Amino acid sequence: MNLNEKLSLAILPTPIRKLENLSKEYGFDLYVKMDDLTHFLASGNKIRKLEYLLKDAKDKNSDIVFTCGGVQSNHCRATAVLSKSLGMQPVLFLRGSKPEIFNGNLLIDMLIGSEIVYVTPEQYKNIDEIFKEYSKKYESEGKKVYIIPEGGSNSLGALGYVNAVFELDKQVDLDQFDAVCCALGSGGTVAGLIAGLNLVDKPCRVIGFNVTKTDKDEFTEKIFKLLNGMSEFDVDLKLEKVRMEVIDDFSGPAYAVPTFEDLELIKHVAELETLILDPVYTSKALRGTIETFKNSGKKVIFIHTGGTFGLFAQAEKITQIMR
Ligand SMILES: *Cc1c(COP(=O)(O)O)cnc(C)c1O
Repeated sequence: MNLNEKLSLAILPTPIRKLENLSKEYGFDLYVKMDDLTHFLASGNKIRKLEYLLKDAKDKNSDIVFTCGGVQSNHCRATAVLSKSLGMQPVLFLRGSKPEIFNGNLLIDMLIGSEIVYVTPEQYKNIDEIFKEYSKKYESEGKKVYIIPEGGSNSLGALGYVNAVFELDKQVDLDQFDAVCCALGSGGTVAGLIAGLNLVDKPCRVIGFNVTKTDKDEFTEKIFKLLNGMSEFDVDLKLEKVRMEVIDDFSGPAYAVPTFEDLELIKHVAELETLILDPVYTSKALRGTIETFKNSGKKVIFIHTGGTFGLFAQAEKITQIMR
């Protein structure tokens, strides 16, 4: 496998839009690359990783695709939709219990006929063991299983965002921009962005806003591992040039739990720009981007990584701020 060996699943290139009203309000030039528009059912950032991962799965004649995440995982939904459309059966290992009503991402998982295994947070810590156990079961039925890690974040999946930088480099003059900002959940997106900018040799910063409670040092280590692992796919990086910028300050009370400020930003941005953020990733990351760059006069690209279906799963909370 290498950078050129991928399926073509996403609708690319995704558009870039300047958010004129927010730029005026906050005193810096804010552009959005709209990766929420990569697809309808498989929208968001994960499809770019899956173009590589599912190519590998197909090449290996896999019948079954395993992956894991939270009950409202965008990654699981995108993996399920695309695996299914490529003739492979998705089996999703979701952290949590079966809800009374299927909504948001889970509703789509269910509609398309995913197999779901609900696992406790305790079991989820040893998800590799559970993958092994279930693999044996399917293999004994003569089926071939392909395992995609949480968030699709291994070095192969991260190539999706190397490719996204090549796309971005054709759309804008990257020398004019100070930073590319996005949410950091499992690290693959940030790793790919760093690698891509390294390859096109632009000094533009990459800033990842951590939306989880995993600490910064652990993430830094993981991202370096992902970057190192890319050499296996003929991606030769100048690692001495890599600067890692992970910001923890906007992660809120817990993963997937927005603050009041995050919810207010969702409303504000929707009203001002008719742009819909999600409560788990993009609202936290955009809030971090605004706090970091306000009144700086700098030029910044925010990657809208999607998550729109997850918005509906938190409709109650969002309704409250409008009463
Ligand atoms: C998964 C996800 C992210 C984080 O990307 P990682 O590559 O996992 O760090 C950001 N935004 C949305 C909407 C996501 O679903």
